[in-house]
Amino acid sequence: MKEYFQGDEFKDISKNGKDRKWKERKINNLNLAKIFDSLDYPDSFIFNIKSCAEYLNFKRSSDGSLRLFQMYTCKNKQCAICSWRRSMKYQVQISKIVEEAMIRKPKGRFLFLTLTVENVSGEGLNNELSLLSEAFNRLMKYKKVSKNILGFLRATEVTRNESMDTYHPHIHVLLFISPTY
Ligand SMILES: [Zn+2]
Repeated sequence: MKEYFQGDEFKDISKNGKDRKWKERKINNLNLAKIFDSLDYPDSFIFNIKSCAEYLNFKRSSDGSLRLFQMYTCKNKQCAICSWRRSMKYQVQISKIVEEAMIRKPKGRFLFLTLTVENVSGEGLNNELSLLSEAFNRLMKYKKVSKNILGFLRATEVTRNESMDTYHPHIHVLLFISPTY
């Protein structure tokens, strides 16, 4: 069991040996606060981002491992800490959904589908996302598609091409389909 003393650098290592990289994530979070500051966002808004995970309260389990017990999160969509926590929460939820789907429809099959469009400028991004979403809804309503679909999970992602200063919106879909598709 590792004991910590004042001035020691804290390392949060998961059960499978992965460093949870609080320091790197907190640095990214502070950089985000700086960006919002340079865009003249209100002080209270900046303060909220900076407060994210400023204090971490861990509890020691009986096996000696540390478990995160309490922390404040800013809930900002761009925050590196919050999006990491959100994705962990989704992973748990998704595995529960998949498990339940397999119980209810044991013959169902899973397929991954990625739908993309050409890169767009920052100004065009909002409109492109609406178009992409509309197109997806249309696709799911096609008879050939809809009659074979038992369910789906959808996540929209936008990546950035820094050298071209463009954005790449795309949709990831986990399809649950009937075996006769
Ligand atoms: Zn946050």
